Amino acid sequence: MSLEPSPAQGLVLELVRASAGSVPCPGCGQPLRDCRLELRQVELDRIAVEMTCPRCQHTGVITVRPQTQGGTATVR
Ligand SMILES: [Zn+2]
Repeated sequence: MSLEPSPAQGLVLELVRASAGSVPCPGCGQPLRDCRLELRQVELDRIAVEMTCPRCQHTGVITVRPQTQGGTATVR
């Protein structure tokens, strides 16, 4: 799958950002609302986005699973 920027991927990132806003950073505990996001992997049942916290520079991967369990975002 191509990872070149596209309007669809921008939309995906906006959705991930909306979910990440309620998830605390594993490093500093602040919501990841303003974190830097980079799309890594898009599959039918999950989206993986690399995130960088602007406050503590912690990096991790946010995995968003749409629909299952009402839509969840987890950070590792
Ligand atoms: Zn942080």
